Amino acid sequence: MKILCIGRNYKDHIKELNSVLPSEPVFFMKPDTSLVTRNRPFYLPDFSNEIHYEVELVLKICKVGKNIQQKFASSYYDEIGVGIDFTARDLQTKCKEKGLPWLISKGFDNASPIGKFLNKSAFQDVHNISFHLEKNGQIVQQSSSHEMIFSFEEIISYISRFITLKMGDMIFTGTPSGVGPIVIGDRLEAFIENQKLLGCSVK
Ligand code: ZN
Repeated sequence: MKILCIGRNYKDHIKELNSVLPSEPVFFMKPDTSLVTRNRPFYLPDFSNEIHYEVELVLKICKVGKNIQQKFASSYYDEIGVGIDFTARDLQTKCKEKGLPWLISKGFDNASPIGKFLNKSAFQDVHNISFHLEKNGQIVQQSSSHEMIFSFEEIISYISRFITLKMGDMIFTGTPSGVGPIVIGDRLEAFIENQKLLGCSVK
């Protein structure tokens, strides 16, 4: 399986990173070795001094698709969850400055904790799913799929023009504002509509 991630999909986050509003979705990949499941802890790596959390809604792909039209895109995912797109911001900034790919800043081992997934049918309206992240019991990020620049359908359709989607693939759909650093001892908990789906202790 593969993990695809959308960058710059919430206006407020683009602002906080001084990035430019994209006219098309920007996406990148993380290796499957970056996954952390079952609420296992996250161990701070020794190659970065600035690891940021980014909470994101995650789609799970349920069938093979290529060149998927937007009007059919919703049938290509069946589950929605939350994940954290951990980012070594210091490494990413260095790579960006040099115009180099920044895979190491987001694709390192354990950079992608994912929580429990919910069936799509559990939602009245997938275009209005609220979610948030708490750090040590305080809300640090909060948004809704309603705030996304590119919808789930647009994302799936766009990615599948270039890369075939397969069953089990995951799509991180971008992070809202409020990203920030973590230190040893922090506890992160991610929620979809008040249901806690992911817990992650920083060690
Ligand atoms: Zn992200």
